[in-house]
Amino acid sequence: MPSYVIAGASLAGAKAAETLRDEGFDGDIVLIGAEHERPYERPPLSKGYLLGSDQRDSVYVHADGWYAENGVDLREGTTVTAIDRGAHTVATSSGAQVSYDKLLLATGASPRRLNFPGSDREEVLYLRTVGDSDRLRSAFQPGTRVVVAGAGWIGLETTAAARSAECAVTVLEPQSGALTDQLGPELGAVFADLHRAHGVEFRFGEKAVEFRPGMVITSGSAEIPADLLVVGIGAAPNDHLAARAGLETGNGVLTDEALRTSDPDIFAAGDVANSFHPLLGRRVRVEHWANALNGGPAAARSMLGQAVSYDPVPYFYSDQYDLGMECAGLPSPGAYDQVLYRGDRDTLEFIAFWLSGGVVIAGMNVNVWDVNDDIQALIRAARPVDPARLTNPDIPLTDL
Ligand SMILES: Cc1cc2nc3c(=O)[nH]c(=O)nc-3n(C[C@H](O)[C@H](O)[C@H](O)COP(=O)(O)OP(=O)(O)OC[C@H]3O[C@@H](n4cnc5c(N)ncnc54)[C@H](O)[C@@H]3O)c2cc1C
Repeated sequence: MPSYVIAGASLAGAKAAETLRDEGFDGDIVLIGAEHERPYERPPLSKGYLLGSDQRDSVYVHADGWYAENGVDLREGTTVTAIDRGAHTVATSSGAQVSYDKLLLATGASPRRLNFPGSDREEVLYLRTVGDSDRLRSAFQPGTRVVVAGAGWIGLETTAAARSAECAVTVLEPQSGALTDQLGPELGAVFADLHRAHGVEFRFGEKAVEFRPGMVITSGSAEIPADLLVVGIGAAPNDHLAARAGLETGNGVLTDEALRTSDPDIFAAGDVANSFHPLLGRRVRVEHWANALNGGPAAARSMLGQAVSYDPVPYFYSDQYDLGMECAGLPSPGAYDQVLYRGDRDTLEFIAFWLSGGVVIAGMNVNVWDVNDDIQALIRAARPVDPARLTNPDIPLTDL
């Protein structure tokens, strides 16, 4: 009986296990996860779950009994500590050696941590796990003074939740604007303005350098009153296990377009995978929910020997206050030379398009719905568009 082992029991790993069974695999599936929790989704942890509007049960990938019912040996609270590629076994923190015919690495990413005086204090909080979200939720009380390090997605979504709980929030960001790496300055400014309108103070060009009880010290020597410092300064791939086993790594576990690593029996998917993307023509590591949701299943099919060319348009969504958005493509600075709008940027109901050489490379619909598939089709088409037609809301995106 073949045995497929999955290291990392979160969205990518759980969806891979589901796909293996859906595709008729009837061998052993061992799903090994470091957390003491069955696989769950993280987006609610900085949104509905943190706000208290989503219940705990809504975050799980599968119902409680699903793993046993589908013959998936889920080992919670267990870390894969080593891979012996020659023997085709993994070692775990419980002392077990588990044999594999195929192995999937779905070990995800971990928050980058601050390291300065006071950064190990209990008032300095991170957000990756459901336990982290629980801690933040109980700490966010009316009047709590919160300093957020980092104006990226985690920092800003947490800021919105803290403001909803009537905390006072100051955001420190060493770059000159919010979400600069993710969206560029033009659209980053939309989010900074949104937060300012909700009473958030930004200090751009400054970072936290020390935490003292009741205070954060910034690189500009400002002393900001703070009961809590929430850290959202990015995440690093959990690729050490792969690197120690001699797999090719570099900003994640390197894979081809079929999500195969440099070892033909080992695959990688989700946040940890730095995969060759046929559409982009280069490797890319995508830390987005949709990439775990679809990458896990793609890796599972590849493990089963099916032909896989994994090339989704990167997709991301966010909710902050009354703003809901979906973004397709990778609009980082340097990737585009023009930004165009369809709809009204000021009333926060619009689509932004990032273009390079007249070709749409990314698009974000803000409080406009049912258009993201069309935006993805435009990106995939990769041909020049007429700017007047692109910005005209009367012309369907499908007619461009
Ligand atoms: C608070 C938060 C909000 C988010 N919101 C959004 C959003 O709105 N939209 C969006 O597109 N994306 C969002 N994301 C990103 C999205 O959640 C991730 O892309 C997704 O969780 C990646 O899933 P994964 O399965 O690849 O990895 P992870 O979710 O990181 O899971 C990896 C799992 O592997 C375990 N593990 C690691 N090493 C080992 C080991 N050696 N042995 C066993 N287990 C191991 C880890 O403990 C973890 O449980 C958010 C992320 C966070 C943290």
